[in-house]
Amino acid sequence: MAVEPLIFDLSKPGRRGTSVPQATGPETPIPDELVRSSLELPEVSEIDVIRHYTRLSQKNHAVDINFYPLGSCTMKYNSKINEIAARMPGFAHIHPLQDPETVQGALELMHDLQGFLAEISGFAAVTLQPAAGAHGELTGILIAREYHKLRGETGRDTVLVPDSAHGTNPATAAMAGFKVVTIPSDERGNVDLAKLREAVGPSTAALMITNPNTLGLWDEGIEEAIEIVHNAGGLVYNDGANFNAILGIVRPGDLGIDIMHFNLHKTFSTPHGGGGPGSGPVGVRADLAQFLPAPMIEKRTAADGAVSYGYAWPERSVGKVHAFFGNFGMHVRAWTYIRMHGAAGLRQVSEDAVLAANYLLANLKDRYDLPYDRTCMHEFVLSARRQKALGVRTLDIAKRLLDFGVHPPTTYFPLIVEEALMIEPTETESIETLDAFIAAMRQIADEVENDPEYVRTAPHFTEYKRLDDVTANRNLNLRWLPEHRDLAAVADD
Ligand SMILES: *Cc1c(COP(=O)(O)O)cnc(C)c1O
Repeated sequence: MAVEPLIFDLSKPGRRGTSVPQATGPETPIPDELVRSSLELPEVSEIDVIRHYTRLSQKNHAVDINFYPLGSCTMKYNSKINEIAARMPGFAHIHPLQDPETVQGALELMHDLQGFLAEISGFAAVTLQPAAGAHGELTGILIAREYHKLRGETGRDTVLVPDSAHGTNPATAAMAGFKVVTIPSDERGNVDLAKLREAVGPSTAALMITNPNTLGLWDEGIEEAIEIVHNAGGLVYNDGANFNAILGIVRPGDLGIDIMHFNLHKTFSTPHGGGGPGSGPVGVRADLAQFLPAPMIEKRTAADGAVSYGYAWPERSVGKVHAFFGNFGMHVRAWTYIRMHGAAGLRQVSEDAVLAANYLLANLKDRYDLPYDRTCMHEFVLSARRQKALGVRTLDIAKRLLDFGVHPPTTYFPLIVEEALMIEPTETESIETLDAFIAAMRQIADEVENDPEYVRTAPHFTEYKRLDDVTANRNLNLRWLPEHRDLAAVADD
């Protein structure tokens, strides 16, 4: 017997993991169009399935296993109380088409969360509908488009994007039909204000800025940048994915930012979940609330003082961007996280996240290059160009870190740093974990000098070594098929 049989090979005709009780009442035939003549799934027992998925989970790295300093992704620990709250039957077993009277608690929670996020960020209104950060960006930029259209300024067809912005920003602007103009950074890693001044004009729809930016730096000229764009008649969109650095310290709305998205799966500790379901709420200033996706959750107070919650359709809504209300389970988790911490606790989250990042930076900058040598926010970007000169690339260092049981940092991003290693420790790690990471990074720096081949051929201790990323990406094959069928046949179905 193979040590680890794949579930596909275990299939035995007639083997089952469930048993359905014999029906006792009258039979109701299922309409023909809903019935498939065959359902070709592996036929396996319950224990086969459990062992298969447990084994798979052990092959993967996870934040519940060890340190995961993946820059820009805020892989903080997701407290289990979030999960307990989201699994409460009153939240988990309701349906969005239920009569609102029967789901008042869920609506109250969403209304609360809209309000909490607005309060934390300084915006007038927040939609919970978008399912991810990039989805929030698209929602926000569609709102900017409607805003200009309503004012008759349809010539505003350009979005300015600093080169330190996240890659989703220019992608979003292009997807919404805008031209994208890149604004360079200055030598301190801030948006180059002179270049911004040259670029703005009557065709400027918006500046899409990531602040703190992907270098992990607070833009020192942010208020001036906002003024430049506003004076030219444009809006300022802030990519708020890096909000974990400034909770309770700065409210982007107070700075004059017009639109911002939040990543609940980063800052507010809801799971990232392999690409989804995430949640990317969007906050806007007061006069943009009329464009938010519908419906919003509204609080109503009757003449007798009775409070209830219902749905409201913003007057000039951009429409729906997600079925129903977005990923409600994530709203429950984020609500729980915010209530668990309270205002002072959220501020401490950011203070500790920034402290942890600066602690790593201070203990690594003598061994790796630090192109922008400033106090960082929640993350920082090293360059392995010194190691590259010795024949070792960032990718090799990342692979070697796997031998220490650590998920590597983000590599080769941002693009403006050669051989980039973007490190974000988050606030949920102990000093022992941070010290172990420092020791590993310093040991790897030694190895690069003394035995570069050892780093180049890493990892040495993981079950799998270097996978072919490109093939894995292009020829993704996740689907089991019985032997007699092939993918082409399925495509024809
Ligand atoms: C993660 C991230 C995004 C995209 O968010 P998703 O939820 O992955 O779509 C955008 N901008 C920045 C700065 C990010 O870190």
